Amino acid sequence: MPKGLCAMPGRPFLQIPGPTNVPERVLRAMDRAVIDHRGPAFAGLTKSVLPPLRKVFGTAEGAVILYPTSGTGAWEASLVNVLSPGERILAFNYGHFSALFAQTARNLGYDVDEVPLRWGQALAPDDVEARLRADSAARPYAAVLVVHNETSTGVMSDVAAIRAAIDRVGHDALLIVDTVSSLASVPFEFDSWGVDVALTGSQKGLMLPPGIGIICAGPRALARAEKGGAPRNFFDWRPILRDNANGFFPYTPATLMLFGLREALTMLVDEEGLDAVYARHHRLASGVRAAVVAWGLDNLCEDPARTSDTLTAIVMPDGIDSDAAIKRARERFDLALGVGLGRIKGRVLRIGHIGALNELEVLATLGGVEMTLVECGVPLTLGSGVAAAQQQFVEKYELRSTNYKVGQQEALVRTS
Ligand code: PLP
Repeated sequence: MPKGLCAMPGRPFLQIPGPTNVPERVLRAMDRAVIDHRGPAFAGLTKSVLPPLRKVFGTAEGAVILYPTSGTGAWEASLVNVLSPGERILAFNYGHFSALFAQTARNLGYDVDEVPLRWGQALAPDDVEARLRADSAARPYAAVLVVHNETSTGVMSDVAAIRAAIDRVGHDALLIVDTVSSLASVPFEFDSWGVDVALTGSQKGLMLPPGIGIICAGPRALARAEKGGAPRNFFDWRPILRDNANGFFPYTPATLMLFGLREALTMLVDEEGLDAVYARHHRLASGVRAAVVAWGLDNLCEDPARTSDTLTAIVMPDGIDSDAAIKRARERFDLALGVGLGRIKGRVLRIGHIGALNELEVLATLGGVEMTLVECGVPLTLGSGVAAAQQQFVEKYELRSTNYKVGQQEALVRTS
């Protein structure tokens, strides 16, 4: 085996903000013979994943479209189906992925106005409103691009408030939202937030390996795709929707991953339940945030109300290179952490807390980060972050008298 690929004892800790850990059950669901994607068994598989995926997006009327691709492919699909080349797009640069989404649109021949924001800021609905009010009446924006959860900074934007801002102006632009690192982990309401196109990848909240890109398209987007859009082939969603009606695809889908997707959706939607999944991510994130405070370090997110529940980006103290710390965590503990991307390379260390994860795994991760940072020269108290997270996780009970029909009894009652 090549050097560096030999396994350390114990399980590796993959705590980057995606790809995330794939549960054993999902791995086992994919570990099977490939089936004929034009046969009747396959049709049932397709039909079994689309309704729960609609629940995950929070849509009754939106259409869900699956592609064998990654999030980058889903970006492209979200644009070429609804926008004609040369159409104007409003985009905001508040992190590595919002910048790349805008760049994708430019590469495809769209006329993109990219508004620079600080990395660490959320996208303020007022900024969207002001830009749309000042828009050209002759050639208005055809779409506004939003990254719901900026994976490079750990900042979440308020999509419902952004929709309200668009509506206050009465602007007709489509609202296209990247949910790559938020969907199936934090609440997302495609219909009630008035989203026109949402896109995601399989490798984060959906607990699958990379390989499926997913789009949800609302009625306005579907109508635009019928009449317009850009020249397209692989990403044209019309043939996919046509064939999906019978459970098939116009070209070869990621067959085995769809078995994994079905298992993951059973776990998230039917067994744990989406509200419990969101509550779990919030609880785990509060633990990580408490640890960062206990260490005396800064969260890159400027507004505590907008911190991400799926990852935390920690600013390194002066003189500490996050790339060196991440290398050390990998070599010492087999702990993979997220690097600082783009212009914050070397300055930020990201802890992913998304996907199949529980309290004990977060505590182990925080223990590894603490030891790594101390070994790299950060003056923090060992155990302080772990203890702060434990304080967030521990449930408090009181012994109380309860008056049941059978008589007075003592019971442990949860108080927090
Ligand atoms: N959008 C966001 C918010 C992301 O975090 C990522 C990747 O991490 C992408 C898009 C690009 O996705 P992919 O790397 O699957 O192409």
